[in-house]
Amino acid sequence: MEQPAWDDPALSSGTMVRGALWLLQVIGEGHTFTKNQLRDAFPGISQVDRRIRDLRDYGWVVYSNTEDASLLAEDQRFVKAGVAVWDLNARRAAAPQKAISSKDRQAVLARDGYMCTLCGIAGAEPYPDDSVMTAVLSVSRRTVISADRSETEALVTECKRCKAGRGDAPIDVKDAFDAAGALAPGELRRLARWIERGRRGSTALDRAWAAYLRVPPEQRSEVTDRLREMQ
Ligand SMILES: [Zn+2]
Repeated sequence: MEQPAWDDPALSSGTMVRGALWLLQVIGEGHTFTKNQLRDAFPGISQVDRRIRDLRDYGWVVYSNTEDASLLAEDQRFVKAGVAVWDLNARRAAAPQKAISSKDRQAVLARDGYMCTLCGIAGAEPYPDDSVMTAVLSVSRRTVISADRSETEALVTECKRCKAGRGDAPIDVKDAFDAAGALAPGELRRLARWIERGRRGSTALDRAWAAYLRVPPEQRSEVTDRLREMQ
C-alpha cells in the first residue's frame, strides 16, 4: 500500500496513523521535534503526545530526554519507523500483544539481573561507546524457536537501543548452538565455566584491552610499537 500524505483531508485514519505519517514526511528519521510542533500539526487534538507514544507498540522508536540525555525536555527524537500502521493489514498483523503485567515485568527484570540480555548493559548505565545515552531497560515478548523448531513465547529484558536494532526477530536456540560450535576447545571450556557460574568472566584478551585503556593516550604508542614487534 502506498503511503498516504499525513495531512490528506480524505484520510480517515486516527491520530496515531496521521502522527506516524507526519513523523516520516515532515520530521524524518533521525531528526528531533518539539511538543509545540506536534501540537501545531494536530491542532485541537488532545493527547497527541500519547498517540505518538502508542506507536512504540508497533516498533516505532521515539526518544525523549529520559533515553537520550542530549535532548532538551521539550524535544523528542524520531529514531526509527516501525510497522506501516496506515496499512490496515500490516497493522493487524503487528497488533500489540497483550500487555505485560507489572508483576511479570518486575520478575523478568530481577531474573535477568536488571541487565539487557543482548548487550549486558544495566539500567541507567551510560553506553561505553556513547556517553550521552544511558540505558533504559524494558521487558519484551519474544518468539523463541527451540532446537526442534517449535515456537514458544518468552519475556526478556532488553535495552531500548538493542530493541530498536533488533526489530521483532525471534530468539533462535540454534544460534547459541552454532555460536558455541564455532569455538575452539579452550574457549568452549571457558564458556561452560561461565554458564556454570551464571556470569561471564574476563578473558586474557579483555584484560589486555582494559590494561591498554588504562595507559594514557600519550603513552599508547609505546604499547602499539611493542605490539608491532611481537606480531
Ligand atoms: Zn542492550
